[in-house]
Amino acid sequence: MPDAPAPTETATGLAALEARLRDDLLLLNLPARPWVPQREPDLLDVLIVGGGLNGLTAAAAARLIGLRVLVLDRAPEGAEGPWITSARMRTLRTPKDLAGPALGLPALTCRAWFEAQHGRAAWEAMERIPRAMWMDYMVWYRRVLDLPVRNGVEVTLVRPQGAAPVLVETASHGTFRARRVILANGIDGLGGPVVPAAVTGLDRRFWAHSSDVIDMGALRGKRVGVVGAGASAMDNAASALEAGAARVDLLIRRAEMPRTDKFTGSASKGMTLGFLDLPPEDKWRFFRIANAVQLPAPRQSVLRVSRHAKARFHFASPILRAEADRGALRVVTPRGALRLDFLILATGFAIAPETRPELAAIAPHIRSWADSYTAPPGEEDAGLAASPDLGPGFEFRERVPGACPGLERIHCFSFPAVLTHGKMTSGVPAVSDGARRMTEAIARSLFVEDRVQFLAAFEAYGRPELLGDEWRPWEGPMEDESDAAA
Ligand SMILES: Cc1cc2nc3c(=O)[nH]c(=O)nc-3n(C[C@H](O)[C@H](O)[C@H](O)COP(=O)(O)OP(=O)(O)OC[C@H]3O[C@@H](n4cnc5c(N)ncnc54)[C@H](O)[C@@H]3O)c2cc1C
Repeated sequence: MPDAPAPTETATGLAALEARLRDDLLLLNLPARPWVPQREPDLLDVLIVGGGLNGLTAAAAARLIGLRVLVLDRAPEGAEGPWITSARMRTLRTPKDLAGPALGLPALTCRAWFEAQHGRAAWEAMERIPRAMWMDYMVWYRRVLDLPVRNGVEVTLVRPQGAAPVLVETASHGTFRARRVILANGIDGLGGPVVPAAVTGLDRRFWAHSSDVIDMGALRGKRVGVVGAGASAMDNAASALEAGAARVDLLIRRAEMPRTDKFTGSASKGMTLGFLDLPPEDKWRFFRIANAVQLPAPRQSVLRVSRHAKARFHFASPILRAEADRGALRVVTPRGALRLDFLILATGFAIAPETRPELAAIAPHIRSWADSYTAPPGEEDAGLAASPDLGPGFEFRERVPGACPGLERIHCFSFPAVLTHGKMTSGVPAVSDGARRMTEAIARSLFVEDRVQFLAAFEAYGRPELLGDEWRPWEGPMEDESDAAA
């Protein structure tokens, strides 16, 4: 292969990029024209709960294959997902070169968007994508594809009704009806934050979860504890230190810092596309191994903390007890006690659909891995066992067949899908593959569901391709003259 050309200044502007994207779509004859028979004007083919990364990518993928889609998000426009609210890392944790939600369209990548504005040299000089810039890119992605998103709409109940459309009730905009519903409602979408038992009874003025919006300025001069050793623990510890915290104590349950990111390190297209078809025992084993070493924080995130002299890393220090004591917190660990003013729990999220009011109608019926798989002795894992046991199109399945007809019309496109599908819903890397897999499965199921109509329309179709003037019947003898001579 010849050497790549030297980078040239390529900041041609967003208008030029948008024209290129329109042209690319034209060349690919996309989006496909809508093809699902529209039975009633307000009936949607697909309704997506959540307009974050997963929801927007799913909406785009659905649009490209001709499905009519609507996205609802309770967040204000431009503040969907964690990026400019609860996330506190400086840059994305993922490498900048991943194509993310681009769905195979080069002009839709974050890189194309960035280079159009700042040029190739600037892209090459940038180590990772700044967090708020990623939000700006998401805003552009939605605008340039003209994705139909309604903000400020909170979904309060998702109700399947057998073969009839799924009802999606909202707090302020009435009830929507859709033939398929996609839950792209976030990393906590099937549950909520994990709060250690020692902390649950404490007054909320003493603690927050990393997914909360925290006023870091209020931690100036305070003694802050951060529970956890993952990326969010580092981001929160660093933010508190940068805001002027008097001291930050990291309380880490493990005896050692997690160091190896197994999934990222061994990622491949084969893993992305093939994981779904692995036998359950292999899927379980992959995640057990990954959980055993735990996902480490990126190196830069740890350095962002450790460069502060006021940061202290305590290993083998799970919280045994925490109590309010003379206006502060007294936190007891196996290695001693600490006095703190505020505690941030970077303890992750649990899968517990029964705790989400909007899932009340379906939660008892969702088949989980606990229902369908028994781990070998010593390999049990309650967190994994709570994962939904999804179908090949990310659809929920019933725990007891027939107990919740229509449940399979609701698709889970959030983090908990990973045990069934591999890491397609956990962030930027494979979100396009996941969105395509899911929306193509939805398209197949809608086509099959409407098969009577499609067959009738096929039979009735009579617009002639040929007008009758393209040929003339041969009016001479059948035999060739040369045959006759012979
Ligand atoms: C702090 C943090 C940092 C991360 N950093 C990275 C990273 O660097 N790289 C990476 O690849 N991944 C990262 N991830 C993971 C990544 O954010 C998620 O995988 C990705 O955002 C998933 O997108 P999502 O659409 O499922 O969820 P989100 O982006 O969280 O979007 C969910 C949306 O659903 C809406 N919603 C939820 N419930 C309702 C309801 N009832 N009604 C209406 N709307 C609702 C919310 O308002 C929200 O906008 C990070 C996650 C977190 C939490």
